[in-house]
Amino acid sequence: MNKPVTLNRLGEAASRFVASEKKLYIDGQWVAAENGGVIEVVDPATGMVFDQVPAGDTADIDHAVAAARRAFEEGPWAEMTPAARGKLVWKLGDLVEEHADELAELEALDNGKPVGDARNGDVAFCYELLRYMAGWSTKICGETIPLSSGAPFHAYTLRQPVGVCGQIVPWNFSLMMAVWKVAPALAAGCTVVLKPAEQTPLTAIRLAELAEEAGFPPGVFNVVTGYGETAGAALAAHPDVDKITFTGSTEVGRKILDVAKGNLKKVSLELGGKSPMIVFADADPEVVIPAVGYGIFYNMGQACSAGTRLYLHKDIAETVLEGLKAFAQSLVVGVGLDPATQIGPLVSEEQFERVTGYISAGVKEGATLYCGGSQVGDTGYFIEPTILTETTQDMTVVREEIFGPVLVVSIFDDDGVDAVLKQANDSIYGLAGSIFTRDVSRAHRAAAKLKAGTIGVNTHHVVDPALPFGGFKQSGWGREQGHEAILLYTEVKSIGVAL
Ligand code: NAP
Ligand code: MG
Repeated sequence: MNKPVTLNRLGEAASRFVASEKKLYIDGQWVAAENGGVIEVVDPATGMVFDQVPAGDTADIDHAVAAARRAFEEGPWAEMTPAARGKLVWKLGDLVEEHADELAELEALDNGKPVGDARNGDVAFCYELLRYMAGWSTKICGETIPLSSGAPFHAYTLRQPVGVCGQIVPWNFSLMMAVWKVAPALAAGCTVVLKPAEQTPLTAIRLAELAEEAGFPPGVFNVVTGYGETAGAALAAHPDVDKITFTGSTEVGRKILDVAKGNLKKVSLELGGKSPMIVFADADPEVVIPAVGYGIFYNMGQACSAGTRLYLHKDIAETVLEGLKAFAQSLVVGVGLDPATQIGPLVSEEQFERVTGYISAGVKEGATLYCGGSQVGDTGYFIEPTILTETTQDMTVVREEIFGPVLVVSIFDDDGVDAVLKQANDSIYGLAGSIFTRDVSRAHRAAAKLKAGTIGVNTHHVVDPALPFGGFKQSGWGREQGHEAILLYTEVKSIGVAL
């Protein structure tokens, strides 16, 4: 197999993992895909293949679901006290922290993202979230309910784990998206079959090794690497899966709904976005420029909550645009594993084509290329941080999710909130949004009216283990993080005892 130069930058632990043979983790065993298929793993900084993982398929999903069912219904997990379960989830958090540098390197290699972001962003969030969710294990409870009819019943509810959960995650924050789903599911007492994205399967496999080391009983946590159309679709359709959770494109979210309806399994979806950032005339440019810059360019814009549409008041437009251009041009583009890098490659050739296609479409439809827009270097999938100005609501680049480092800018001149909010809300998506102003009442009014699941005021990306995250409109169903995530993985049962 080819050995791209990027591999030389890996530490010892990550090198050892890359060199090891990758298998599926089913029922506490490491096994090859039953049909022998493999997926090649590509380094997006060079376009070269450096590893391979099993291409699990329907038969492997069947085995994993059967194992998850057994673990859910009988054996140590089903009998485990909430405290013991919480301890295991906490232990997994400790192990993720212990191996944080290695995991960050694997993520930077596999996805292309800057290793510092992977370490301090993705991986740090994972261990904090595992600990946060571990705490919920012992606090999941129902209620005692006084009956409205006055019937002579002692009535109460139990909150119980929903059962076997299929979890399908994307490539943009591969480990973090996996942990967003795995941590609350395990804390709630469910069992899991996880399918990572074909482009970035490595950290999910490493997570399974750490879960094994933590001591989760066989069958509680299973990982099947494989393609979406085969393994993913089989998991979403499986008649013995009680719940499917998915993060990815709205298009695939719809496909999942279609096949999930067979057994009416519970579904939660975290889908695309086209999140607006609104800058009023009184905003502080020193706050706006870096917040908007990171709002769009963090993770090369490959973030579902990326601030992709900028609505800029005309009185502040020139200052902010000049500042944003300088910000974009100051970002260090390079190999993810180089600690100096701030902008890595896009994840894949497909994604590179998609993003450059959107930039061309924007220009063709009349937008102005204000900065960026070109490939950087001639190997790998690097693209300059890009700003398109003079965009209008009907343009493709304003309506569709680009999922790359491309900001589309539109200028407004009305001081009120209503006109600009109408534009901001004119989208099929509603995942996130942000408002920049020094007027506190305008901030609250606008935040209440923006149709999105997470709003930042004088900041853009707002995520925390304790804070619900999810979408309005076609950005999804349900909320992850916080207590809301525990609700996603539990069912309520009402019990009446005749007195
Ligand atoms: P995607 O197709 O939605 O992939 C997300 C996950 O779903 C992957 O694990 C994928 O598997 C799996 N999948 C694909 N088809 C499936 C099916 N028919 N049934 C079950 N699972 C299936 O995303 P993508 O193709 O990688 O990216 C396309 C666009 O989606 C991006 O450009 C972006 O707009 C959006 N996206 C959004 C997010 C987000 O966080 N909301 C994340 C990633 C992408 P394989 O990859 O293994 O085929
Ligand atoms: Mg795909």
